[in-house]
Amino acid sequence: MQRKLPLLTPENRAFWQGGEHGQLLIARCHGCGKYFHPPAPVCPRCTSTDVSPEPVSGRGAVFSFTINRQAWLPELSEPYVVAIVELDEQPGLRFVTNVVGMPPDEVEIGLRVRVVFLNCEDVWLPQFERDV
Ligand SMILES: [Zn+2]
Repeated sequence: MQRKLPLLTPENRAFWQGGEHGQLLIARCHGCGKYFHPPAPVCPRCTSTDVSPEPVSGRGAVFSFTINRQAWLPELSEPYVVAIVELDEQPGLRFVTNVVGMPPDEVEIGLRVRVVFLNCEDVWLPQFERDV
């Protein structure tokens, strides 16, 4: 399967490769203690540069989602779910991902999910499945 993969940078490498060791790594500021995403060398809240990736639980809830039914890309089998997941660690700590492993029509806002990783070459894409 060919899939368009993110370009790895020094800032985002931990996020995209943490899944190799089963870890979802999210940038955290040691100045204010807050997590933030996407990863960056400077905290967007307090401008501290004392930031580093830290493992989180990988659990959260669907904040919003849409079901794609159009074959935009030949390598993706539709329908599939594009979702914004909010992690348990912090209100507002959200990112865009896919919800997998369940019928798209059963996804709903507030659904409890946990991270799973899809390995493509040197990237481990964080996706989410129903947390049972
Ligand atoms: Zn900060």
